[in-house]
Amino acid sequence: MDFGTKLIHNGNEIDKTTGALSIPIYHASTFHQFDIDNFGKYDYSRSGNPTREALENTIAALEEGDSGFAFSSGMAAISSVLSIFSAGDHILVCRDVYGGTYRVTSSFFKKFNVETTFIDATNIGEIKERIKNNTKAIFLESPSNPLLKITDFRAVIEVARKNNIVVIVDNTFMSPYLQNPIKLGADVVVHSATKFIGGHSDVISGLVVVKGKELSDKVKFVQNSFGAVLGPQDCWLLLRGLKTLKVRLDYQQKSALKLAKWLREQEEVAKVYYPGLLEHPGSELHLSQAKGGGAVLSFETKDDETAKRFMRKVKLAAVAVSLGGVETIVSYPAKMSHAAVPKEERESLGIKDSLIRVSLGLEETEDIIKDFKNALSI
Ligand SMILES: *Cc1c(COP(=O)(O)O)cnc(C)c1O
Repeated sequence: MDFGTKLIHNGNEIDKTTGALSIPIYHASTFHQFDIDNFGKYDYSRSGNPTREALENTIAALEEGDSGFAFSSGMAAISSVLSIFSAGDHILVCRDVYGGTYRVTSSFFKKFNVETTFIDATNIGEIKERIKNNTKAIFLESPSNPLLKITDFRAVIEVARKNNIVVIVDNTFMSPYLQNPIKLGADVVVHSATKFIGGHSDVISGLVVVKGKELSDKVKFVQNSFGAVLGPQDCWLLLRGLKTLKVRLDYQQKSALKLAKWLREQEEVAKVYYPGLLEHPGSELHLSQAKGGGAVLSFETKDDETAKRFMRKVKLAAVAVSLGGVETIVSYPAKMSHAAVPKEERESLGIKDSLIRVSLGLEETEDIIKDFKNALSI
């Protein structure tokens, strides 16, 4: 079955009790037990809620994992997954990981003696070198943010397998439509569903998909005991958003490619980063493990002043953090996502003050190009 069909027909789209074509929002915290000797399927919504269950089963089917879990944010999803590890464990995390993941691993989990080493995940040699006896997990993101660097999932997974290391992939930038790390051998996929899955910039949420019963039980235990679950209303927004994931991304991705090609012709633009462009250094590798370049790109202007002017003058696109919505969003890493990183360190990561990130929405591409043309010009 094609992915687009699966978004609409995956076995979780019809309410089993009424036949409703939209899963009802079960706003219930607790459930009456008709038989004190045999409890029903649901007892308390932290442990299980029918709307959340429909969403969790849907994302598990779309990522081809064994179980799905919905959390109150992408960070709650990531932190809950990392909570399956114990004091004394060591995890490898790709260096240009999402800022929130950097913060939670480098400071929060450190308090509990879970040790983190940041590695260049595009360098297999470095990964092998950094594995220690207590290394339990490797956390990857590809394409990375904001420079869209590509990690070779198959190669990393092979190394991890040999060393009994759990592979966790943050698949937010690609969504289950464009990339399925579990099919390539990863154990856990996490999403900030706030982005492409929700797709409408209206809900903060996170999803996790796990392969295998042992790991699934561990994540289920954390979800139920730590309790950072997603409420039924927000679960419904994700179920609704998911139905149009393919049509949205097909358009957004086409638009991203058009914009990338236009940008590289502009005299005010020094460099374009987009894995859908064949000259992107990771393009071939990326297209061997994903179905397209996605809808996020970044570019450097010829100088810092041009970038600042662009951010001041751009009108149609929203100037904001976040991505994956129906509206085009531009962000300025130096002042937004990476503002807390000192300038020298930012530059060593390749994030210049002339770098701008774009997430394409559903506007007519020509209108976005006109807006950008005006914003780049003096
Ligand atoms: C936004 C984002 C997150 C965090 O998700 P929230 O829903 O904001 O908590 C994690 N990873 C990536 C790649 C993101 O873009």
